[in-house]
Amino acid sequence: MKESEKPLERQVQKTQRLHFRPGSMTEFPPQLVHGPVTARLENRTTREDVSSSPWSRRVKSHTDDEQLTVAELLEEANRNLKRLHVHGDVAASSVSRREADSCVLSGCLWPRDPDGKVYVPYAVANHYFSEELDVIRGAMDSFSNSTCILFVPRSDQKDFLHIQSLPGCYSYVGRRGGGQLVSLSRRGCLHHGTVQHELLHALGFNHEHRRSDRDQHIRVLLENIMSGHEFNFDKVDTRNQETPYDYSSVMHYGRLAFSRDGSSPTMEAVPDAGAEFGRATRMSRDDVRRIKLLYCSD
Ligand SMILES: [Zn+2]
Repeated sequence: MKESEKPLERQVQKTQRLHFRPGSMTEFPPQLVHGPVTARLENRTTREDVSSSPWSRRVKSHTDDEQLTVAELLEEANRNLKRLHVHGDVAASSVSRREADSCVLSGCLWPRDPDGKVYVPYAVANHYFSEELDVIRGAMDSFSNSTCILFVPRSDQKDFLHIQSLPGCYSYVGRRGGGQLVSLSRRGCLHHGTVQHELLHALGFNHEHRRSDRDQHIRVLLENIMSGHEFNFDKVDTRNQETPYDYSSVMHYGRLAFSRDGSSPTMEAVPDAGAEFGRATRMSRDDVRRIKLLYCSD
């Protein structure tokens, strides 16, 4: 019998044996929690008006979604999240909009241990299948393999990432205190680069195309943006750490992001309009470098 055909309870029992511990949900901002998370997510995920979206038509032209870029996967997974207070794939606090990674100046970094490592505790809800947990773990390992960041199962730490499959892929920017939601929907978010993208948000990184110096590299074509989504292109006061603008960052959206008709570009490279951007499927060399500069160097 294939894994997907087994009764869900049996699959869940299997994932629960994988040393992932569900954490408390009590510290989540209430607007982001839609009732208790249960194993029966299939009945909870809502998809509205899927067939009429220009984006949907574009995605369906791909036969293998592993070939899609992280930017494309995120947009597809997050199409209907407006009511969840999600800005693109960045969750917004009801108290304050901590969407600028300048939050690193006011304490949203994860602390570094005296041994030089940065341990980021996490808990994973028990509704993932083992193959899905492997994707999450693989993305976490990619950080520890190349930087001082180590994602560690939560024991009793106060601050931790609580990874759950709610509708959509999104995260807060930086450490915000307590258990903070990272939504990695089983429907569309469980790809290596997509998990890396959300973990980078949780570490304090914002979108590359929102960098304070982006106008020298990207022109935003406001007239082509879907009405109501212009905020996804607002510049933020980012701390760029003297790193070059990175068209191949996994944090860069693509040229058709939030396009009103699915074909009119919303961004173009400048001065070289032919330069490619937003095509990443995993962290770039400069994404790794930025993590090291922010967390691992003295
Ligand atoms: Zn994002």
